[in-house]
Amino acid sequence: HAKHSGRRQVKAFTPALDDQRREHFALEAALRRAVHAQQFTLHYQPQLRGAALESVEALVRWTDPQLGPVSPGRFIPVAEQCGLILPLGRWVREQACAQAAAWHAQGRPLRVAVNVSPLEFTQPDFVPHVQGLLLGLDLPAHLLELEVTEGLLVQDLTGTAAILRELRALGVRISVDDFGVQHASLSALMALPADVLKLDRSFLSGHDTPGGLPSGTQVLRAVHTLGRELNLDVLAEGVETPEQHALLRDLGFEYMQGFLFAPAMPAEELDLWRDARSG
Ligand code: C2E
Ligand code: MG
Ligand code: MG
Ligand code: MG
Repeated sequence: HAKHSGRRQVKAFTPALDDQRREHFALEAALRRAVHAQQFTLHYQPQLRGAALESVEALVRWTDPQLGPVSPGRFIPVAEQCGLILPLGRWVREQACAQAAAWHAQGRPLRVAVNVSPLEFTQPDFVPHVQGLLLGLDLPAHLLELEVTEGLLVQDLTGTAAILRELRALGVRISVDDFGVQHASLSALMALPADVLKLDRSFLSGHDTPGGLPSGTQVLRAVHTLGRELNLDVLAEGVETPEQHALLRDLGFEYMQGFLFAPAMPAEELDLWRDARSG
């Protein structure tokens, strides 16, 4: 704490801390209003298998009337800290499942992957809520994928594995998001009831930015082998350049997602994107 770190530092750092705190509370208040008014939208980013569209990831978007567009990288951590992630997460799941059900009903089924925060995942009503959505919307479970983070395994492997098994028993696919940055143990990974590893995009950045991971290619190869040994699909996130694409292809990666292929977009735009590709 600042109090213990000397008078000079307290003086130097207090204003910045206050600013940070003020920003946090402003964001929290705006977020609270937005949750009540349901001021969010979902965008969908294509995930490819080879050249084919395999699935999409639902990503939440928020434009506050005063603050303008706020990125999820900024507001999701705040929502997690103050608990607003629970109503927001429910809205996201409902919206994403309704969209997946609509595509299914239109005869152009597409699996939708939904991000789940650790706090949501550990609520006792999480699995029943998912099950209720599938039933209520007549959505085949294989059209829903839930993305959890590796950190859950680090926190509580036994509890997490039990919930994942329940979800998979329903037929829902499970992916481990941002894989490789939160250091789950190998034994935790091997016990993991999951279908997909999503390799964090930081592993790609070493290849065209100076100062990136020096042994990037070996790490990519190792993760790919690990996935295959554990019977998991491995998806590379954040593919931005043709060079990264070529390297991943040479290493045998089948699944990719990134700005090189397409950004996240509203459902109607995604429909047009699909139409244009199927020619
Ligand atoms: P994530 O789950 O790892 O999602 C992928 C993020 O990478 C998205 O950022 C996406 O737009 C971005 N991305 C995709 N391709 C590229 C690329 O080629 N280059 C770069 N630089 N970025 C790329 P976004 O939408 O800003 O979301 C950030 C994070 O916020 C997500 O990371 C996820 O952790 C969280 N998030 C987003 N939507 C939700 C949600 O509905 N619920 C929860 N719990 N978290 C969410
Ligand atoms: Mg994700
Ligand atoms: Mg990710
Ligand atoms: Mg993430």
